[in-house]
Amino acid sequence: MERYIKEEFKIPLRVFADVLVAGGGMAGISAALAAARQGAKVILIEKQCILGGLATAGLVTIYLPLCDGRGNQMSYGIAEELFLLSISLGVQERYPQVWLENGTKEEKSKQRFEVQFNPQSLALLAEEILLANGVEILYDTRICNVKMENGTIEALIVENKNGRSAVGAKTYVDATGDADIYWLAHGDTEEYKKKNTLAGWYYKNSRDGVKLKILGFADAPPETERDKGEALLDRRFSGLDGKENSEMLCASHKATLEDIRQKKLEDDSYEPVTISTIPQVRMTRRLSGEYTLMESENDKRFVDSIGMIGDWRKRGIVYEIPFRCLYSSKIKNLIGAGRCVSVDDGMWDIIRAIPGCAVTGEAAGTAAALTADFAELDWKLLQKTLQEQGQRLHFAEAGL
Ligand SMILES: Cc1cc2nc3c(=O)[nH]c(=O)nc-3n(C[C@H](O)[C@H](O)[C@H](O)COP(=O)(O)OP(=O)(O)OC[C@H]3O[C@@H](n4cnc5c(N)ncnc54)[C@H](O)[C@@H]3O)c2cc1C
Repeated sequence: MERYIKEEFKIPLRVFADVLVAGGGMAGISAALAAARQGAKVILIEKQCILGGLATAGLVTIYLPLCDGRGNQMSYGIAEELFLLSISLGVQERYPQVWLENGTKEEKSKQRFEVQFNPQSLALLAEEILLANGVEILYDTRICNVKMENGTIEALIVENKNGRSAVGAKTYVDATGDADIYWLAHGDTEEYKKKNTLAGWYYKNSRDGVKLKILGFADAPPETERDKGEALLDRRFSGLDGKENSEMLCASHKATLEDIRQKKLEDDSYEPVTISTIPQVRMTRRLSGEYTLMESENDKRFVDSIGMIGDWRKRGIVYEIPFRCLYSSKIKNLIGAGRCVSVDDGMWDIIRAIPGCAVTGEAAGTAAALTADFAELDWKLLQKTLQEQGQRLHFAEAGL
């Protein structure tokens, strides 16, 4: 039988910002930066103690391509800015020489515009750039509830060293990766029914130096060009249950430890350098927005496009992303970004890569600075603002 305890207490309203960004992964970083550059007072709330989410704390350090695999750059603006920022202290691997050193289109069609970066550098650099743009960062703070008033979010309830408090804003960006804010606000959400395979990405040092070690099965469709790895376990994980998340982390740690022990038998100098400190889940829960972009809608032009991405798995497959995928009119002042926007399962696997998270983050943050009601926002004004910031919206602008 379920037992309940009733909580009743007053909590202080801590700050009031223009834009509150929930989650400091690549989507949240992009959103906070874009909103701050529009002159908004921005607060970013992150439960970890570094920025970057999966890309840094999760050691997912391959910035997948900004291009279409046929020599055309698709994602610009903050997606490109963060790409360059991630390697500004040095490239780890996969240096995209032809893209950064004036290669020809022919050369660019052979090398994808992707790179492997250092996660610690990116976390530190992202923090530096957000602070320089006036963003207030609240680390070690978990958003645990939402206070609603007439279809609008009044405040988010957070918990940290000060206990519980409320943080209010005019608009909210759900960049939690799991659509936590939509879910807490009883907005419409969808879960990823297939669930996630077990992953155990870690860094090791050995005779051949410090390298990323990828454990686990990527679960990409069979026809894709990418290395899919080997399944670590038959079990799959939703990423949405506290107990199950802990079991997943323990299983990932066990697989990592077994791998280290095995490798040490072959090379005595083999040692782990960093392990992930965040659950490595790809698709969990997303918002159900005004539009749900489908994998089959490649090459489709959308009047309200906020940016473009290429399919990281297959060359020549490109998408415009409609603004309507980022919000639901049921909650007026909430917008989503990153791996929890409104897309079908096939598209989810494409848009969740870092470029898609940065493109949707930039659009969500910019929109959040421009309106208090996303359904009412003049999206042409949003598009104009994004273009002024350097983003490209339609295939023709990418030379297609
Ligand atoms: C195993 C694996 C391999 C991958 N490989 C690649 C790859 O090679 N290249 C690539 O480009 N992409 C890859 N991806 C996908 C990509 O890394 C992520 O989808 C992307 O980084 C997600 O960014 P995000 O900002 O949307 O979400 P996240 O990175 O998940 O960020 C969400 C942030 O919100 C915070 N947060 C969540 N809930 C709360 C809360 N309630 N309160 C406060 N803070 C909260 C989290 O701590 C986190 O920092 C991979 C993903 C996985 C799991």
